Amino acid sequence: MRSELEATLGYVRNLPSPPGVALRVIQLAQDPDADLGSTADVVAMDMALSARMLRIANSPLYASRRRVDNLAQALAMLGLNATLSLALGFSIARAMRNDPDLAREPYERIWRRSVIAAMASRKLGQAKGIRRAEELMLAGLLQDIGALALLQTQPIRYLPLLDQAADHAGLAALERQVLGCTHAEIGGWLAQHWNLPGYLQTAIERSEAGGGDHDDEDTFNACVALSGPVADLWLSEDAEAARIRLLPLIQARLGLDSARFDAVLAGIGESLPEIAAIFDVHIASPSQLEDILDHARELQSLRSLRELQDAAEARRQADESEHRARHLTEQISRDTLTGVFNRHHLESVLEKEFDLALRHDWPLSIAFLDLDDFKRINDAHGHLVGDEVLHAFAQALQKLLRVTDTVARYGGEEFLVLLPGTEEAVAVGVMRRVLTDIAATAMAWPGGTALHVTFSAGVATQGGRERFSSVADLLKAADDVLYSCKHHGRNRVMSRSQPTPGA
Ligand code: GH3
Ligand code: MG
Ligand code: MG
Repeated sequence: MRSELEATLGYVRNLPSPPGVALRVIQLAQDPDADLGSTADVVAMDMALSARMLRIANSPLYASRRRVDNLAQALAMLGLNATLSLALGFSIARAMRNDPDLAREPYERIWRRSVIAAMASRKLGQAKGIRRAEELMLAGLLQDIGALALLQTQPIRYLPLLDQAADHAGLAALERQVLGCTHAEIGGWLAQHWNLPGYLQTAIERSEAGGGDHDDEDTFNACVALSGPVADLWLSEDAEAARIRLLPLIQARLGLDSARFDAVLAGIGESLPEIAAIFDVHIASPSQLEDILDHARELQSLRSLRELQDAAEARRQADESEHRARHLTEQISRDTLTGVFNRHHLESVLEKEFDLALRHDWPLSIAFLDLDDFKRINDAHGHLVGDEVLHAFAQALQKLLRVTDTVARYGGEEFLVLLPGTEEAVAVGVMRRVLTDIAATAMAWPGGTALHVTFSAGVATQGGRERFSSVADLLKAADDVLYSCKHHGRNRVMSRSQPTPGA
């Protein structure tokens, strides 16, 4: 078989290499020292890719409380691994999308299936408690790159196979007969040739492994392999018959029963419009499938099935232990009294954000806050009440800002807020709104009466109007404005370009 594969590959070798961005992302994925900064460098160079990353960060898949409106925030929210996987998926998808004129229709068909499969793979993995959502999506998406490569390089030979095959399994059998190997094997070879991460090579290579021996296979690869047949439900004429045919396989390989499988299908159906739009494909749900999905949704809302609870419980436990681990590492970066980041952690975040802003020409605003007349609170109500106020204030402050903003206690009753990707005027607006909210909130109730605080804040912005040569200079600038706020009567937010109230 190997030599036949080699022979077929002879035709495939004239395939275009992945475009520059994809190559760089591949390198980053392999570099243990890669960080969000170097990844942002690569993504930012490509407008279309940046736009897609932004869009997916705002999609319901990653729904966060607030809209992220620039790349810095999007990447910070997604994190390094998700960013790399998604960027790889987008850039390779684009490279493979140079569909040859003569095979546009089959090309679209394979892509549509791949995009549905990406979501199917993610949702199947989620039902099995696998926590590598983006890697699952990426493997699902790329599983048929072998077929696309064949179509691109030898359409005359390959098109008839696509036409003849009744389904995907039939296609693999035909391929083996005529070409001596399957598109999955070719895809695996391509993945290796392109230096894609090892897990992708394996998942793609095994994506056609239908039945047979799979006792030793891991769940990840099973989810990818089954994502294709699941995607076929959206493309088949008789969805119900296809579902019934697929069910035993889903049960045997993933241990999901009919009800849980339907719940997975409903989840896929819900997320499809968004992913289809992101990948520019049109996906219609056949009406028969809609009935299945409706039924699944109904069941889901009524049901208190034991196993669903068990699965949820298992996931909850996994979440909890991950949460504990994260909590431990976070503890050393948190201030014990207020729960926000401590000065030590702030310094490293500030260095990183400063660096990023400089490299990408993004604005980075910081706000230096100092509570007004705090000494009087201590004097009037005692130190313990003072402590309570500091805690309540810091927590309230954090809640009023975006997840991508950093809040840290700088010392005593002084705090620093970092607003990456935010212009000075916007940062001033945000901090003024925060001041209004804080002033209206009781921070403690000594003796049953509400205790309110105000603060003064100085905003300085790296990028935009000014460029500071170091973090220390930026901090000093914000501190100077803060001093000016105090001088002008406290309870106010001012900035470098408006350092006095009337200016
Ligand atoms: P201004 O409006 O000028 O900032 O007045 P202020 O009273 O807030 O400023 P000052 O710097 O004179 O006093 C800060 C006070 O904050 C004094 C200090 O005891 C108190 N403080 C600092 N850290 C803590 C803490 O951890 N707990 C408590 N309860 N008080 C603290
Ligand atoms: Mg003070
Ligand atoms: Mg102070």
